[in-house]
Amino acid sequence: MVHVRPPLVRLQSYVPGRKAPGATLLASNECPYGLLPGVAARVADMTTGLSRYPDMGAARLLEALATHHGVTPDRIAVGAGSSEVCGQLLHTVAGPGTEVVYGWRSFEAYPILTTVAGAAPIPVPLRDHVQDLDAMAAAITELTRLVFVCNPNNPTSTAIDEAALRAFIDRMPDHVLVVVDEAYREYADPSAVPDALELFGDRPNVVVLRTFSKAYGLAGLRVGYCVGAPELIEQVRKTQTPFSVSALAQEAAIAALGEQEEVARRASLTITERHRVTRELRRLGYVLPGSHANFVWLPLGEDSTAFTDHCLDNGVILRAFPTEGVRITIGLPEENSAFLALAETWRARTAE
Ligand SMILES: *Cc1c(COP(=O)(O)O)cnc(C)c1O
Repeated sequence: MVHVRPPLVRLQSYVPGRKAPGATLLASNECPYGLLPGVAARVADMTTGLSRYPDMGAARLLEALATHHGVTPDRIAVGAGSSEVCGQLLHTVAGPGTEVVYGWRSFEAYPILTTVAGAAPIPVPLRDHVQDLDAMAAAITELTRLVFVCNPNNPTSTAIDEAALRAFIDRMPDHVLVVVDEAYREYADPSAVPDALELFGDRPNVVVLRTFSKAYGLAGLRVGYCVGAPELIEQVRKTQTPFSVSALAQEAAIAALGEQEEVARRASLTITERHRVTRELRRLGYVLPGSHANFVWLPLGEDSTAFTDHCLDNGVILRAFPTEGVRITIGLPEENSAFLALAETWRARTAE
């Protein structure tokens, strides 16, 4: 019998959002507006060339990202989604005998990728649906190698402000890499949620993660990246699975970066809908934190699964975290209305 590492045997697999033909999909925080027009054109063009390996160094994509962020390309590493980049960062600094700290509940890839890297996950409970930075700082030891700060936090939708993030980063010892995961940056109010790349990007122990999966609408093509100190990035690049970012993904990401106006327009439609969904849910009597992302969090506790099943039975797929809450992605206006109608019938039913 082959020997499987025990932490892996105990590990729970990633639970992807469900898909069903004809259903309304509000489970995976995807952009509901489809491919950006320029991306669709570029992808349709790319039927030739795919029999060859992609550019492993993704040079043109790095160049485009560097221009977009006003940094040098040697500060950027790409991967097949920022999930792969999370794994790369872990493999760069953590491993057996070390610890990785993150708030919990947060992005479910953190415990999985930490365990796969061989390090010990140290989840720190949220406080009022917000990452408790004081408790996270208190959980740092000599063995800690990396701390994830997810801002805004998935799935609770809450954000950490600049003063709190700055105080936390200032407190971090030099041996701890702070990974600020900004997957939902484009949906956050820039006056309320700090841009860690702008504020802390020049620190040797801070890395900022971004993705093309959310506001750029490329979840199916898998591209993400991190920005950090060149010395660290040089090592992070070594941990990437060779050629993991396909030629199609690289070209689509370059095209997407060229459509900032449309990206911003779509994000603002989502933000408007997020305000409407939040307002309507509160009017119906639901209690929920204000969201800074493209989803809302309904902390329904023991009712979470039944609520999600009620919506599923009526063709709307949400993401339940049993006994904790339900995450609802903001979709097209009519999709959000369909969800709100179900939230209303649930209210009426459970009030009986
Ligand atoms: C969706 C998400 C990502 C992005 O994942 P990809 O691998 O880029 O698709 C990263 N972090 C968080 C917190 C997310 O919710």
